[in-house]
Amino acid sequence: MSGETHAVVLGGGLAGMLAATVLARHMAAVTVVERDVLPDGPRQRRGVPQARHAHLLWSGGARAIESLLPGTAERLLSLGAHRLAVPRDIVWFTPYGWQRRLPGSEFMFTCGRPLLDWVVRDQALNDKRVTVLAETEAVELTGTADRVTGVRVRGANGDTADLPADFVVDTAGRGSAMRRWLGALGLPPVEEDVVDSGIAYATRVFRAPPAAAGGFPMVNVAAAPGVGKPGRNGALAPIEDGRWLVTLAGTRGAEPTTEDDAFLDFARSLRHPVIAELLERAEPLGPVTGSRSTVNRRLRYDRMPHWPDGLLVLGDALAAFNPIYGHGMSSAALGALALDRELARGRLAPGTARAAQRAVAEAVDDPWMLATTQDICYPGVRVDSTDPRIASRPPEQQQYTDMVSTAALYDPVVSAAAMRVTALAAPVSLLQSTKVVMALRTAARHQPLTAPPFSVAERARLDGDAAAALTTT
Ligand SMILES: Cc1cc2nc3c(=O)[nH]c(=O)nc-3n(C[C@H](O)[C@H](O)[C@H](O)COP(=O)(O)OP(=O)(O)OC[C@H]3O[C@@H](n4cnc5c(N)ncnc54)[C@H](O)[C@@H]3O)c2cc1C
Repeated sequence: MSGETHAVVLGGGLAGMLAATVLARHMAAVTVVERDVLPDGPRQRRGVPQARHAHLLWSGGARAIESLLPGTAERLLSLGAHRLAVPRDIVWFTPYGWQRRLPGSEFMFTCGRPLLDWVVRDQALNDKRVTVLAETEAVELTGTADRVTGVRVRGANGDTADLPADFVVDTAGRGSAMRRWLGALGLPPVEEDVVDSGIAYATRVFRAPPAAAGGFPMVNVAAAPGVGKPGRNGALAPIEDGRWLVTLAGTRGAEPTTEDDAFLDFARSLRHPVIAELLERAEPLGPVTGSRSTVNRRLRYDRMPHWPDGLLVLGDALAAFNPIYGHGMSSAALGALALDRELARGRLAPGTARAAQRAVAEAVDDPWMLATTQDICYPGVRVDSTDPRIASRPPEQQQYTDMVSTAALYDPVVSAAAMRVTALAAPVSLLQSTKVVMALRTAARHQPLTAPPFSVAERARLDGDAAAALTTT
């Protein structure tokens, strides 16, 4: 590490804090430029409006964060986050039926996104080489098409200044202006892939029934793609302070409204009414909020014919997914690890930024394929992509996915592999491994479950009426 090197990160969200942590391992100082004032606690803020909605952190991402910021998991748990084993701690109606509650090596954290962001930020800012320039907006890059030399910023008083940097990482989220900034440096337009199922979110927070406040499984009723109807999803996630964060979502043609009175009706219209039945006795703690920032959009900076040294794009600024799959934060974390590897390998030598941009693109490829190959199955989906894996997906691939997903409901080997892939803890190619193929051949016939598989103890945590009301067929 040189004593003089300086990196700038654009945007102090989750990807920004992870990028800053990585850069601090390789540079003398890191400045995070952030438009908002970053709260000193788990509070909502303007720059991350999606934080009101359920945010699951899969184990693939959680492990990546832990490796960069050791102690994060323990702090989250001590502040009330839940660590749910997957699939054991999920009552999960998948498109293929009820998932048996098998033990598994994977897990997810559930908590409010403000808590997660604050813990990660606090951990990252423990490193005194990282400082935040708050209430400051990045407005353009400085440098040339060959080398980015820093960023022009505008402070709260409207004054602009140039921040020189040896390395700039853009983590400004879905609203990043990087395409325009690269154009201003004379670079050609970037290729963009878009798959838009039109999915809209509606979220409400509830106080869990007292006996369920200390622990309850996540309850997930997934949409069934490919049946010619818009998809309807619902997820009830236990979060800190004995609350349930409930997100409902519908693809184009089945979008939920944000009217408080319509929330339970939409929950009843899911493929199974279990979430509505649980909510009938839970106390709402605020209004319903909506989000439509849900388009799968991937920018192919990795394919640009020319890429300037000293620049990288990461997180939602690079690839954003339909959030129903819960992969945005984990793929940002895995991208940060890829950056770390490339900086360790290439230092600040010419070509390192390009290699890192390609490595990060690889890290987002699996979540991109997992989301888009499902989303193309919904009616009214809008696809603007030249990716042949999406545009002309062979039907055998969908048949294989169907076979794996059905066997994952009950076969421990297939389930473990499917959960590792879903959790971004293993590549999608794991599903083609000999072990999985053999397990598919030998999987015993199974009796599908006909009701949400709550345990006796979980039913006991609901009041008698609620437990009795749960639909069992
Ligand atoms: C409704 C919804 C639900 C979701 N659920 C999940 C989930 O369950 N699991 C999951 O893993 N992911 C989920 N996601 C995705 C997740 O929110 C994103 O992947 C994640 O926030 C990406 O982090 P980021 O740091 O790249 O961007 P962001 O979190 O958007 O942060 C961008 C930051 O940049 C700042 N900024 C923007 N422009 C500038 C500028 N010009 N100058 C300075 N600062 C700037 C902003 O203020 C903000 O702080 C969900 C998304 C949505 C919309």
